Amino acid sequence: MPARRLDGKALAAEMRTEIAAAIAARTALGKRPPGLTVVLVGDNPASHSYVRNKQKACTEVGIRSTLHHLPTDTSEAELLSLLASLNADPSVHGILVQLPLPPQIREDAVIEAVGTLKDVDCFHPENVGRLAAGIPRYYPCTPYGVIHLIRRNGIDLAGKDVVVVGRSNIVGKPLALMLMQKPTKQNPTGCDATVTVAHTRTPDLAGVCRRADVLIAAAGKTGLITADMVKPGAVVVDVGTNPGPNGKLVGDVAPGVEDVAGWLSPVPGGVGPMTITLLLENTVRAAELIDG
Ligand code: NAD
Repeated sequence: MPARRLDGKALAAEMRTEIAAAIAARTALGKRPPGLTVVLVGDNPASHSYVRNKQKACTEVGIRSTLHHLPTDTSEAELLSLLASLNADPSVHGILVQLPLPPQIREDAVIEAVGTLKDVDCFHPENVGRLAAGIPRYYPCTPYGVIHLIRRNGIDLAGKDVVVVGRSNIVGKPLALMLMQKPTKQNPTGCDATVTVAHTRTPDLAGVCRRADVLIAAAGKTGLITADMVKPGAVVVDVGTNPGPNGKLVGDVAPGVEDVAGWLSPVPGGVGPMTITLLLENTVRAAELIDG
């Protein structure tokens, strides 16, 4: 039997209706609508497309979104000065600096310059530390989206063997933290899973993956996960978004996995729409933290 589909597009639509209702309830109480400011430096076409999608999603749910589009030759000092003014602006709840940045700007310096209450990407070291300590302020959008995609399809992660392929700061590492943590009142997203993180120096990737009840591919390598690496009936989440033929996006999971897995997320239409949806949720959280 082919794998059941982990449909991120459908779940994202459902969650966006819930988020829009939460925003309408806030504004009915006289509160300001949540505001997201996106900062884009340069003319990377992929970044432009991501930013357009984020802004469109904001408008759909009632988030005010503002774009600061700066030229490619913007200096680090100019960007830091803009961030200081956005940090001080009470109408800005969330700040998102679209990565990658041009080479003259240090990514670390920019990430640390976003106010911790406005850091809706959850990239600031203080917020990453809070996440690791089990007292999160925010959850990072892509890992948060992956966990929602699994759980809201009725799949319980407690006690499961989960393998995450990839250890980046944006996806693999925070996702592993969230999966392994105990759920608490302060950290409701903890999943109680037994987690293995695989990466480029993992000797027997296929053997490690075959042990997984839940396999999450976040390597950014087209077709890395083949059918022989998947335990029959496993849940497979494909985070990869890689350039494919004819300008299409393709994932890290190879054709044929759908015949072995019990569940599989498609690319596109799986994790991508979930990531944007959890950015919207984080922006509402920022408004709650800042305005009450
Ligand atoms: P990254 O390049 O920063 O990290 C990739 C990780 O995968 C590294 O830790 C590396 O050790 C591991 N890896 C690479 N090749 C491997 C191999 N052959 N075997 C084992 N491990 C290997 O990438 P990232 O930012 O974490 O993104 C990963 C993928 O997810 C990319 O395709 C990216 O486009 C995609 N992504 C999608 C979304 C979304 O919303 N759908 C969001 C973020 C990233």
